[in-house]
Amino acid sequence: MTRFGFEIAARDGAARCGRLSTAHGPVLTPAFMPVGTQATVKAMTPDAVRETGADIILGNTYHLMQRPGAERIARLGGLRRFMRWPGPILTDSGGYQAMSLSELRTLDETGITFRSHLDGSRQHLTPERAIGVQHLLDSTITMVLDECTPFPATEEQAARSMRLSLAWAKRSRGAFRPRAGYGLFGIVQGGVYPELRAESAAGLKALDFDGYAVGGLAVGEGQAAMLEVLDVTAPHLPAERPRYLMGVGKPGDLVGAVQRGIDMFDCVLPTRSGRTGQAFTHRGAINIRNARHADDPRALDPECRCMACRGFSRAYLHHLVKAKEILGAILLTTHNLHYYQDLMAAMREAIAAGRLAAFAAEFAAREAGGDIAALAGAAAADEDDSATEAAPNPANGG
Ligand SMILES: [Zn+2]
Repeated sequence: MTRFGFEIAARDGAARCGRLSTAHGPVLTPAFMPVGTQATVKAMTPDAVRETGADIILGNTYHLMQRPGAERIARLGGLRRFMRWPGPILTDSGGYQAMSLSELRTLDETGITFRSHLDGSRQHLTPERAIGVQHLLDSTITMVLDECTPFPATEEQAARSMRLSLAWAKRSRGAFRPRAGYGLFGIVQGGVYPELRAESAAGLKALDFDGYAVGGLAVGEGQAAMLEVLDVTAPHLPAERPRYLMGVGKPGDLVGAVQRGIDMFDCVLPTRSGRTGQAFTHRGAINIRNARHADDPRALDPECRCMACRGFSRAYLHHLVKAKEILGAILLTTHNLHYYQDLMAAMREAIAAGRLAAFAAEFAAREAGGDIAALAGAAAADEDDSATEAAPNPANGG
């Protein structure tokens, strides 16, 4: 049996590239996990997700426990078999969406009580139940139940919330059944307050988790504040364990976080953007719906080798998205996931070569240069090509 483990192959400043070993296959880090909210990465077959270079995907416990139900998924062989994903899966605890999606939710020291957004049934999510549901799903990586501290929060509010999460982390640890190749991650909270982040990290470290997530970010604090929190949090995390930044983010966020020692990410941005006409390219984000693409025979991103960039024109993609054709969502999602995985692979290479700082500088310069300037005279510079924000919208999932 494969043991759950993390090996760091190279370091470059605070950044690391490595390999996570799990019961369901390895994960090269830094890694991006596409979000498969309802046991599917929207618009993608599992094979197509694999082909983008993804080693691991994320599933949403809140959604799956309500439909089709964790017990049913367990009877059908677990989430991986149910959705036919061959690699490892990480599941969240369900707490974030129970708080953000359901009506009449209340949180106390026992857990979260909420009414299902699907059928109105009253449910109680405790740390033990969150671990139990993820066990039924047969998640490769289980997350502890925590409270995602709202932003903004006063130091007192953030402290109370973080200490509740710490108490829940301890209960989650006790409820988790260790199995070879499976892991349990703790989640650092504490808002934007360095002392609270340090206290949270120390408390979790004492519980000896297989990995450590940084939670409560990408909730509206902005990139600069997020990176500052990582600056003060990462040094408190055990160096030899994987670090996961939850719910982040835009390509530039990923580069900044990797430079600060983060190894794993998840975000709905590439998949959700793919369904609304936003594409991430080597020259920044573009909106394929814009009129300037209507007659453009070129590929979406000439530096990409995905299905959408091989033979399809921007003009055709523009047409598909305007006509609301399913293929538009499929091709743009395919491209965006390829882009994210290529970015992670490029960062792994740069770390191994000791040139991540140069890579980051080049990345920033190309993003700033933009797609419009690259067209050398193409009109419509006034159009808004900015990407959608990374703020999670839990109602729709990935
Ligand atoms: Zn592409």
